[in-house]
Amino acid sequence: MSGTINEFEMAQRQFDHVAKLLSLDPQIAEVLRWPMREFTFRIPVRMDDGSLRVFQGFRVQHNDARGPNKGGIRFHQAETLDMVRALATWMTWKCAVADIPLGGGKGGVIVDPATLLTSEKERLCRGWVQNMWKNIGPRQDVPAPDVGTTPQMMGWMMDEYSKLSGQYTPGVITGKPVGGGGSLGRTEATGYGVIYTVREAMKHLKLDSKKCVAAMQGFGNVTQYAAIGFIEMLGGKVACVSCWDRKYKTSYTYSHTDGVDPRFLMTITDEYGTIDKEKAITAGYIVEDGEAWITKEADVLMPGALGGQINADNVSKISKCVKIVAEGANGPTTPEADEYFKQNGIFDIPDFLCNAGGVTTSYFEQVQNDMNFYWSKEEVLGKLDAKMTSAFYAVLEMSEKHKVYMRDAAYMVAIDRVVKAMQLRGWV
Ligand code: GLU
Repeated sequence: MSGTINEFEMAQRQFDHVAKLLSLDPQIAEVLRWPMREFTFRIPVRMDDGSLRVFQGFRVQHNDARGPNKGGIRFHQAETLDMVRALATWMTWKCAVADIPLGGGKGGVIVDPATLLTSEKERLCRGWVQNMWKNIGPRQDVPAPDVGTTPQMMGWMMDEYSKLSGQYTPGVITGKPVGGGGSLGRTEATGYGVIYTVREAMKHLKLDSKKCVAAMQGFGNVTQYAAIGFIEMLGGKVACVSCWDRKYKTSYTYSHTDGVDPRFLMTITDEYGTIDKEKAITAGYIVEDGEAWITKEADVLMPGALGGQINADNVSKISKCVKIVAEGANGPTTPEADEYFKQNGIFDIPDFLCNAGGVTTSYFEQVQNDMNFYWSKEEVLGKLDAKMTSAFYAVLEMSEKHKVYMRDAAYMVAIDRVVKAMQLRGWV
């Protein structure tokens, strides 16, 4: 984040801007500017050495007019209530733009999960559910993985909820491991979803994907599969990926003269997305500082890590070759950087459209849990492609019809749908 604005202010600023464009009734706008419910709680956890640590937990339920709240749980050392509020708000827009019958929520814990032993992580996950179980559920609020949380953690959380409620309830949480109530394709879903929208943006801009180069930030779940998709589905080249290095406490950009090989890099990456620097160098990778990704000569920039990464301080370092910014991360672009994209004719695929593949497949997971009948990976990814493609065109059409920036158009589509649901339910 670039110091000057926090994420929730950013989410509200984006919303206010579009509320004005839509001439939205100020009283309805006031409902949508703030989350409906917020939970903050302390989670005591017994560490393996016998000591007791107390963690701060959060869950924010922004709006559930269209269906149960939905959104991940982040385990991050710099988590704040405002961050969770922003992310919960974006989930409302994300589910609406993807046209899935869910609302927006987000949770978090202030913790660096890499500092915990497996048994301690399990107790923390169970402790989170012990605090929240009365206020989550398949018809209330359905968490999922996000930064710092994994399918295994979702499995423990589902188990804790099932024990407390006395009923096996896989649909309480998504992103579970396959074989433990998870859906095939969920692991790939967010990254592949990014690529489905990039593919459509390239068609729209008449770019030949086989001649395109992408520069990507991050190497967690989203970037790993976005890089694979960019190479294997679109035939393009990935110039670089980057990652936070836990050992050296800084971030690095990894590039290769032949383009990076994400499937190889995944074999030398830990579960939190840190690439083993020494092994990468041995394999011929060039290592630069973490900001280098943004300056690469690429047609597509894909921020796939944390928020606020393209901001007033670095946006002018973007190469003149960049035609598309595909926002794999949540909130990677600050309003100042948005201005730069607008002025320079850069086509932005906004976060809550671009990375909606994760939550869309979470929705499919819940549907399968409800039916107790599971689909093949091809079926899941085929349905995902159809949803992402139609979401992309709904936003593009709005953008062309009203001659507005893609982020504004995505907000217009999403706000329209949420307001309509609130009106139909008689809330406003
Ligand atoms: N954490 C992901 C997101 O930000 C997925 C949420 C979900 O699957 O509910 O979209």
